[in-house]
This record gives sequence, C-alpha cells and structure tokens, in this order.
Amino acid sequence: MTKHYMIILLLVTAGCRNISGEQICWDRGQWLDLTRDFEKSTVYWPTNVTFSHDTVTYGINDKGYFYSSFLYAAEEHGGTHFDAPLHFSENGRSIEQILPEEFTGEGICVDVSEKALADRDYLITTEDFVGWEKMKGKIPAHAIVLLRTGWGQYWNDPLQYTGTLKSGAEGVGELHFPGLDPAAALWLIDERNVKAVGIDTPSIDYGQSADFLTHRTLFSHNVTAYENVANLESVPTRNFYVVAAPMKIKGGSGAPLRLLVWIPEV
Ligand SMILES: [Zn+2]
Repeated sequence: MTKHYMIILLLVTAGCRNISGEQICWDRGQWLDLTRDFEKSTVYWPTNVTFSHDTVTYGINDKGYFYSSFLYAAEEHGGTHFDAPLHFSENGRSIEQILPEEFTGEGICVDVSEKALADRDYLITTEDFVGWEKMKGKIPAHAIVLLRTGWGQYWNDPLQYTGTLKSGAEGVGELHFPGLDPAAALWLIDERNVKAVGIDTPSIDYGQSADFLTHRTLFSHNVTAYENVANLESVPTRNFYVVAAPMKIKGGSGAPLRLLVWIPEV
C-alpha cells in the first residue's frame, strides 16, 4: 500500500496515530483555505491579461424571480494557480491529465521567511531543506512541499509583492521576489522524490529569473507547482493533508486552483 492510500485510509477510518513522536488525530481538525480571491485586482504576470468578472444578468427577471450570471475571463497563470508540466515542457502533460493522486497528499511547510524578507531576490537553497530536516525529520517521499517566504503579507500591496506596477516586458524586468533555486528543486526531486511544490510569491522561480530553470527542472520531472499561495503563516511545518484541485482546462498549461489543507488536531 502506498503512503498516499495510507493517508486516505487514516482520514477515512479515523483515529489517532503516532507519527514521528507526535500524536496526530486525522479525523479531528480543520480545513484551511490557501486560495486568494479572484477579482479585478488579483496579481497576474505583467504580460498577462488579468481577471475580469462582468455582469451578464442581475435582478428580477420578467418571470418574477431573481437570476444572476456573470462572465469571467483571465489567463491561466494568475492568482492562486496550478502549473502543469506543459507550461515549460513541450511534451509535458496538460492540466486535465494530472491525476487526483498527484494533486492530493501529505504536505510539509518550509519557512524561510527570515532570510527571504531580508532579501527580495532570495533563492531557497538545498541547505534550507537540510536545515529543516535537522529540526523536523526527513521530508517524506511524495510530499507536497509548501514554501513560506513571508511574501504573502504583501499581497494587498502589488508593488511590494511583485516589485513593479508596470505591465508588459518592462514590468517583467522589474520583478523582484524570492523563489526556489533550481539546484534545490533538483535535490527535492532526486533525493526526496517530492510530488509538488507551492510558494507564496507570483512564481516558483525568483522574480529576476531570465531562464525559468526551476520551472523547467520541475516540469521535465513531472513535478507540478502552485503559485500565489495564501495563508502559509497558519500552516504547521508537517503532518497536514493537501488538496490542490485545479480547474480542469483541457490542454491547459495551468489553471486557477482551489488550494486547501486539512490540519489534524495534535
Ligand atoms: Zn504559473
């Protein structure tokens, strides 16, 4: 039985288990929503079309009852969203091909906010993960790794959050926010066999990246990514369950994501 199914079994059959010396009760706990609202002000890449949500019908209709319906539009890569391998890998899978067992599972959260808040171009290194493991134990195989840079606190201040208010190529050149070092991404893949990586910034590559090597490294190994993740300050360091369900866009390179974590009672 894989670890994944064991966790589902734990969730379904309930009860408390001792994991790494901690008593975890999977049947008691709470859901936490790590998703940003999609609205006109939601952060998108400077070259992207941003989110729109316009009224088609709103009010009492001629039959006498209330009815509302809206038209929404946006590019795939904005707000809290999911990156499929196709985003940077020509033969990579598109979003509807990602299997449920790939976007659900055990999560860990690595907090590098002290370093990242002091350096807006900070690259999360392998040493950060090795340091986390010294305190928390080995990263479980097939884990979903959430990276807390502290950048989430700037969400309502787009200039601080991204480094620019400009759109287009000019805006791209001014992006400054922390990200995951490509070598550390490869370490997570090769040495820890992780399932996915999420971050509380606009991109898993840091803002000044010109080659998007972290994206390319992850996607060429079929590891997916979540960006603009919210509320990581409320997520424990380990022993939680992630549900990262993207909109099922056929042929999509990415999609809006509803990202939830189940935090069991300890
Ligand atoms: Zn993306």
